[in-house]
Amino acid sequence: MGILVIGSVAFDSVETPYGRHKDVLGGSAIYFSLSARFFNVVDIVACVGEDFPKEFIAMLKARRIGTSGLEVLKGKTFRWEARYSGDMNQAHTLATHLNVFKGFIPKIPALLRGSQYLFLANIDPGLQDDVLRQVKRPEFVGCDTMNHWITEKPRELDKLIKKVDMLFVNDSEARQLSSESNLLKAAKEIIRMGPKIVVIKKGEHGLILYSRNVRFMAPAYLLERVNDPTGAGDSFAGGTMGFLSRARRINAASLRRAVIYGTIAASFTVEDFSVNRLLRLKRPEIEARLKAFRSLTRF
Ligand code: AMP
Repeated sequence: MGILVIGSVAFDSVETPYGRHKDVLGGSAIYFSLSARFFNVVDIVACVGEDFPKEFIAMLKARRIGTSGLEVLKGKTFRWEARYSGDMNQAHTLATHLNVFKGFIPKIPALLRGSQYLFLANIDPGLQDDVLRQVKRPEFVGCDTMNHWITEKPRELDKLIKKVDMLFVNDSEARQLSSESNLLKAAKEIIRMGPKIVVIKKGEHGLILYSRNVRFMAPAYLLERVNDPTGAGDSFAGGTMGFLSRARRINAASLRRAVIYGTIAASFTVEDFSVNRLLRLKRPEIEARLKAFRSLTRF
């Protein structure tokens, strides 16, 4: 059984010190699925507008990414504009246009309601909850969010995270959600709020994985140049959930290995703008970088 993801499908306009790209393919569900597909079949639940090119849908299908839950609605596709400067770990959002997501009511196709692995990628927590309620009895639920929703929809988010197995947040989101500035305290507080496992991403500084019986930290893969950090978090989640969906058991060992696969997937994403690097990526490159990561971190 594959992975079901609900999230955004977007046109992104992004500026970094290395270039500027307007209306390129992005969105949390896109980055997630293009990374998770190396491990398992993935199906997207999302919506796009009439302006969304058919070639993009064909591109997803060609990569075994299911689009039966991708609705084409009257109106424009979701758009996000952001700038990264200096600290490439933090996107400065310049504009968010929800467009077709405004009135979107997700309907999971009957065939996908039995999905065992569910990822609630970054989108309105109300929509994430709608999807969670439609999936029969998922074995494992991962969930991402962002500062925008922590500020705008705190009650919905609080309710939602009680029902998920693993929460993915970055350091500033962890601090905001928990009201703790120390990240270890923040991780503990988040576990108290409901999820069984939390992973706190720290951009180029790596991650903290925390649960009642797992404590793990790992660096990011060492890169000379990050061209565009967009999608790092979503492709990290894609690699992590992809690996977990294939693991015989979810335990300390598989969780540690999963977040390293996530780290490797994210390291490829940031090498180029939009999804360009993920589209060129081949599975042997992932394994080769995993080996390089192991030798970089062994002591
Ligand atoms: P990240 O992995 O955190 O860099 O996520 C970047 C992606 O999130 C971009 O491709 C955006 O289209 C998408 N995004 C940005 N803001 C939002 C939002 N409020 N809701 C859903 N998706 C968003």
